Amino acid sequence: MSRSAHPAGPRYADVLPEGHYTAPPTDLNALDPKVWPLTAARSGSGAVSVGGLGLAELAEEFGTALFVLDEDDFRARCRAWRDAFGPDADVFYAGKAFLSRAVVRWLTEEGLNLDVCSGGELSIALAGGMPPERIALHGNNKSSAELHQAIEAGVGRIVVDSFQEIARVARTAERLGRRQPVQIRVTVGVEAHTHEFIATAHEDQKFGLALAGGQAAEAVRRVLKLDSLELVGIHSHIGSQIFDTSGFEVAAHRVVGLLAEIRDEHGVELPEIDLGGGLGIAYTSEDDPSDPHTIAKSLREIVGRECRGARLAVPRLSVEPGRAIVGPSACTVYEVGTVKELPGLRTYVSVDGGMSDNVRTALYDAEYSVSLVSRTSDAEPMLSRVVGKHCESGDIVVRDAFLPADVAPGDLLAVPATGAYCRSMANNYNHALRPPVVAVRGGEARVIIRRETEEDLLRLDVG
Ligand SMILES: *Cc1c(COP(=O)(O)O)cnc(C)c1O
Repeated sequence: MSRSAHPAGPRYADVLPEGHYTAPPTDLNALDPKVWPLTAARSGSGAVSVGGLGLAELAEEFGTALFVLDEDDFRARCRAWRDAFGPDADVFYAGKAFLSRAVVRWLTEEGLNLDVCSGGELSIALAGGMPPERIALHGNNKSSAELHQAIEAGVGRIVVDSFQEIARVARTAERLGRRQPVQIRVTVGVEAHTHEFIATAHEDQKFGLALAGGQAAEAVRRVLKLDSLELVGIHSHIGSQIFDTSGFEVAAHRVVGLLAEIRDEHGVELPEIDLGGGLGIAYTSEDDPSDPHTIAKSLREIVGRECRGARLAVPRLSVEPGRAIVGPSACTVYEVGTVKELPGLRTYVSVDGGMSDNVRTALYDAEYSVSLVSRTSDAEPMLSRVVGKHCESGDIVVRDAFLPADVAPGDLLAVPATGAYCRSMANNYNHALRPPVVAVRGGEARVIIRRETEEDLLRLDVG
């Protein structure tokens, strides 16, 4: 497809990938509420604030790169999800998106439950005060130690993922004198990402037990035989960054089909069904996610219809949004170090972070937007690539963005919608020091994860 006729002109057309928007935004200083945290605003001076605090002042106090997490935004999204699903459903926040003790406290106060998928996440959940019965443990290869830790703590459910694990959980529960509630994670032959979903007969992936071929039904048989396990439901998780509920529709149809088979074979109606997470957010202004009420209404209708069709009582529904809660709640603030113009191509703007604090662009070709936040500018838009400081040419934060042409070293940029899978996937490549997370609310800032120091690095390196 030729882009030469695009209004943005041949310069952008030649160098932007197919399908990418090619026109610069009409106002480079505008903050699109779709991607910025709730309380983000430009002040009279033109500088951006979040939670009533200037990002420049926060950068001054806490350094850059810096994650700024808007507590009001986070809590508002928790409430929106909880209210949308109502009292006869459960919202489990997927802790892998971002977890800290402060976040666990907010979740507990806002009435959400919590998914964890490792011993480390479980420790943070318990240390943050989440009641164990509101915690679910996931994972395709939970260690015996993790299972022991979870059962001993009394987690509300373990989502079992393999035949070996069924035996392992049963043995551990028996040894601890417990009857452990479990769900069985099934793969329904649906993969959903953004706008497409693919329904397949077979699943070629490491998670869950396949419905097709009868593995899931066999898992049900095994769990029901074990006195130390209480089978409470079926779990399905179909993908990530999903904008469209048609994949959930197919998944719900197949899960309810299994519930009906279980009733027919074993004479039991399981009380719970979990449709997983994966609900999408806006990373750029091009994305249009649904709101929680629309999603809740649609999922309830789908499950209700399928259950009526199978003459089953409607089980208690749960969902597991991670990204859709914390993703839009945070932004990452960076300082510009160098600006390198490649004439006829684009300008590389290097910042003091990169794939160590946001690996998603390198890993998934994720798209983000970026804004100049320490001031406004009337300069012309300049096609830019915001890159990090790591020794990799793939170390890209924002692949294609328009920044004002006068961007210079010392300016502060912020990338919105970095709350999910950025700090939680942060790494020490090049012995980078992982950035802090500062929670802001009503003009007050609180460090909830401190910046890593060289001392931290040397403590691990025992010489
Ligand atoms: C990752 C994951 C989630 C959360 O996914 P999001 O895209 O953050 O909503 C929920 N459930 C399970 C089982 C997952 O693996």
